[in-house]
Amino acid sequence: MNDAVPTPRAPRKPDLILLRDPAAAPPPLVDGFQRRITYLRLSVTDRCDLRCSYCMPERMTFLPKKDVLTLEELYDLATGFIARGVTKIRITGGEPLVRRDIIDLFTALGRRLGHDLAELTLTTNGTQLAGHAEVLAKAGVRRVNVSLDTLDRARFAALTRRDSLPQVLEGIAAAKAAGLKVKLNAVALKGVNEDELPDLIAWGHAQGHDVTLIEVMPLGDVEEERLDQYLPLDTVRARLAERWTLTESAYKTGGPARYVDIAETGGRLGFITPHTGNFCEGCNRLRVTATGQLYPCLGGGEQVDLRAALRSDDPKTNLAAALGEALRIKPEKHNFRMDTRGAAPALARHMSMTGG
Ligand code: SAM
Ligand code: SF4
Repeated sequence: MNDAVPTPRAPRKPDLILLRDPAAAPPPLVDGFQRRITYLRLSVTDRCDLRCSYCMPERMTFLPKKDVLTLEELYDLATGFIARGVTKIRITGGEPLVRRDIIDLFTALGRRLGHDLAELTLTTNGTQLAGHAEVLAKAGVRRVNVSLDTLDRARFAALTRRDSLPQVLEGIAAAKAAGLKVKLNAVALKGVNEDELPDLIAWGHAQGHDVTLIEVMPLGDVEEERLDQYLPLDTVRARLAERWTLTESAYKTGGPARYVDIAETGGRLGFITPHTGNFCEGCNRLRVTATGQLYPCLGGGEQVDLRAALRSDDPKTNLAAALGEALRIKPEKHNFRMDTRGAAPALARHMSMTGG
């Protein structure tokens, strides 16, 4: 695989500077519900060094490497989206930091910050963050989301099937030391971290990090019953309100989270509630997998193949057509429903494909 990333100013294949025609500025990305797309979540690998039990099975089958976009293709794709008005890119996975040379992509995209890109961010499990935090900051990354569901080492090992909590905590500390703003994301899991959520929130806030709780979503077969994992966040919120003073926050990121301020911890807490509160109205994002499959909605089956367009004889025209199709089929709302017991997952693909 050729993983060399061209510098933004000297692209190797000029025809892959997608959709850029100085004579006619390409139109912004607006879907059928008049939602303007300004945010791309770009998965750079489906591989991971953890095996979170709500995300993937222990024996996960990963994609052949030849199917995965090269770093150069990922850069070209990102460039095409930027040309269409995307101003924020989140690199995700699988675990993005397990991909060799991934820093080259951050560095190349980082050069566009302050020009045609406003924000470059990352979602990571944190295991490799200690070794990458400084160079990410140097590339222009200012904020990272780190997934952390428990502070208990044995529980972490059981939940992720790997004993990596010390590395994750080291990674979070390194990110803070490098000046990165850290947000902690925790999936609320019935009977797993349910009892620990207040401690996790209090710890995160004491470290100066925002915390966001997420309801588990029925994506992919994970060997466990989804219903057994599902903990509605309205229940969690009610319990937290018995302990702390929660005040609706005016803070908004343009994302699905709704925030409260907690008086006693002095921190901010977000709730991502695909089940107990729909958040699709203001959706501003598209997701692309590491193989170049565009999913207009995390909770829908709609799909458009950008890799075929990218590797075709006329990438510019075919990508424009593929993006047009994605905007046309982007649904109004996600289609999540918690499975009935024993049923196949609502969507066959795992979260590690689309990166959340
Ligand atoms: N490996 C990185 C990480 O864990 O942060 C990035 C990819 S991971 C798929 C992105 C986010 O999705 C993580 O916060 C993870 O907890 C969350 N996630 C994974 N599977 C999920 C599911 N079935 N429902 C809800 N969130 C899930
Ligand atoms: Fe890996 Fe992230 Fe999925 Fe956990 S949630 S298995 S860290 S991709």
